[in-house]
Amino acid sequence: VSATIHPGPWLLRPGGTTLAEHRARYGPLVRTSADELVRATEAAEILGRGGAGFPFARKLETARSRPALRRHLVVNLSEGEPASAKDAALARVVPHLVLDGAVLTAAALRTREVHLVLPGEDAATVRSVQQALAERCSNAEDRGIRWKVHRATHRFVAGESSAVLQLILGNDNLPVTAWEPAARRGLHGRPTLVCNAETLAQVAALVREPESVPGLPSEPGTRILSVTRSDGIHVIEVAHGAAWSDVLTDAELGSPILLGGYHGSWVAGDGLRDRQVTAYGPVPLGAGIVIPLPTGTCPLERTTELLEYLAGQSARRCGPCVHGLPALADAHGSLSRGADVAAVHELARLVTGRGACAHPDGTAQLARSSVSVFADDVAAHAAGHCLFSGTRLDLDAAAR
Ligand code: SF4
Repeated sequence: VSATIHPGPWLLRPGGTTLAEHRARYGPLVRTSADELVRATEAAEILGRGGAGFPFARKLETARSRPALRRHLVVNLSEGEPASAKDAALARVVPHLVLDGAVLTAAALRTREVHLVLPGEDAATVRSVQQALAERCSNAEDRGIRWKVHRATHRFVAGESSAVLQLILGNDNLPVTAWEPAARRGLHGRPTLVCNAETLAQVAALVREPESVPGLPSEPGTRILSVTRSDGIHVIEVAHGAAWSDVLTDAELGSPILLGGYHGSWVAGDGLRDRQVTAYGPVPLGAGIVIPLPTGTCPLERTTELLEYLAGQSARRCGPCVHGLPALADAHGSLSRGADVAAVHELARLVTGRGACAHPDGTAQLARSSVSVFADDVAAHAAGHCLFSGTRLDLDAAAR
């Protein structure tokens, strides 16, 4: 992953990646009981940062309260989405913070088996985590944790929770139908907590310095944003409540912005100028992906490219992915040649809620947001020109 990592106010504070440097900064690993960990993470509103935003405390409670002789913890660092680099940034800047969060959570689950799922194609991230693990092998603080490393395939849906469990079981790294949440019934039918790397880094930082959590009283903590720019992805951690105008440039705020990633929603950048960074406004931030539309780019064509990419990334196991997503990408592509939006709405409706995983729903969400936010541009294309690229269209030629 080509990323520029900016120092942040809470988790992304560079200070050395070795265990000795990490301990010099944070002190020894603070032990906490499972009840205390649930209470602390509930009070601090620690939410999962893989994209779904589910409360960590509730997931931990579910896994902990299930009667089972063994439980499992999975640390997911496999960012399938090409525009995300936040977990890679954590792995490279503060790997021991992520591993501390895993040790604390494993203790709360009373398990010694921790699975680490790394992005197989990202050699720098794999190297950083493996170096950190090598230092911890003889570390008494970890109390005999057995770290098991797995390498995810480079595919958009490979990081989905059921796909990650399949990888660990030795199967194809693809989603499957999950009849129950993994926290109730995951690996080998046992309670399994699947946590994103950022979630666990938050847990470790909270336990170590509970008085130093930045953010808003109503929304403590930070967001680690992955902002796509012409020179690559910029990873920027900001406290909740920071102004968007301090994060994005004036030019970026003058453009449409895709928030929440390829399964996210387009918003008008101008609408962010006076707003604060929060998890849910104006649309869910998901895994913190921010993609401003480059100047002079047609948003309809850009969205069609993303829809075609998403259609090609599915596991091709369920009807909506095999038939629906390519048709949706085609229908959206026709908009830039002057077509009506009815087919896009109809196909988005048909694929939603019909897959084994949420990939069709997220793809439909992107298509819906495009036709809604760019309604004027859809009309302009029907009249023969593009509002963003300035291109005049030859609709007769397009029809032929
Ligand atoms: S909905 Fe699509 S991506 Fe999800 S499991 Fe089915 S085929 Fe795979």
